[in-house]
Amino acid sequence: MTYKMKSKLLTIFGDPVSHSISPILHNFTIKELSLNGCYTRYHLSDGDKLREVFFSCGFDSANITVPHKEAAFKACDEVVGIAKKIKAVNTIVKKDQKLIGYNTDAPGFFESIKEFQGIKKALLLGAGGTAKAIAHILKENSIKPTILNRSKNRLTYFKDNGFLAYSWEEFRVDRYDIIINTTSAGLSNDALPLKRELLRELISHSNYCIDVIYNKLTPFLKLSKELNKPYKDGSDMLLYQAVLAFIEFFEHKANKNSIKKAMQEAMFL
Ligand code: NDP
Repeated sequence: MTYKMKSKLLTIFGDPVSHSISPILHNFTIKELSLNGCYTRYHLSDGDKLREVFFSCGFDSANITVPHKEAAFKACDEVVGIAKKIKAVNTIVKKDQKLIGYNTDAPGFFESIKEFQGIKKALLLGAGGTAKAIAHILKENSIKPTILNRSKNRLTYFKDNGFLAYSWEEFRVDRYDIIINTTSAGLSNDALPLKRELLRELISHSNYCIDVIYNKLTPFLKLSKELNKPYKDGSDMLLYQAVLAFIEFFEHKANKNSIKKAMQEAMFL
């Protein structure tokens, strides 16, 4: 199907950004769906320059990755949906010369855990930007999140927003339906996100484990596998956040299932 739509110039802003597979996902899907556009990468060191760069390069829409999601939130003229609570934006769309911001990480994560049944209580390891997005989307869907972080500094945001949030020293063991690793432990090292014995105990009493790190059996997931718990990495979260961003980029004219199918194919290119 061909849509009569002006060609879209899209990008991803990040620092670093060279590792991002978003250009592969989006460009392949644009071609598969016979849409008109091109998705690039933009290495942006200074997040405060995001708005200026966006307009001067003539971009129509963009994704934003680490560490500029909070800067992107501030750069928007209007922020839609759950991004208002998270105060971080990973998708911006230009409409009538205004920047409209969305957070598709949060609904993308929720979509990725839909196959896991009966989740009422979740333990989030880590208290960074991804944990904020996940905590809010779980709460919106009647799942009670508890945040457990190595240090105290980042807990203030969660406590101020009414979440249970503990540092390693303050935490007392409880039972959770799902354990979610939102830390970067295991991304480029062999670290576990928590002391092994405590993590082993928590996983043993849980039903599911998920890591937001993608394309990797992290030490956390290895332990989950060892303890015979159903587990998954962050590939589906990555996929669904991209599908939801693509829908906004192309003004809801492309079909969700077709986008998902093309992006799934692109992930294995
Ligand atoms: P942040 O830098 O905002 O937060 C990192 C968190 O990890 C902090 O709470 C930090 O604790 C904790 N941490 C880091 N290293 C360790 C460690 N060795 N042990 C225990 N805790 C640790 O990161 P983000 O939230 O932006 O990103 C987190 C991860 O999510 C990244 O790996 C990123 O790749 C992934 N991600 C995946 C997505 C997907 O689509 N699948 C989308 C977005 C992100 P402290 O406060 O004590 O320093």
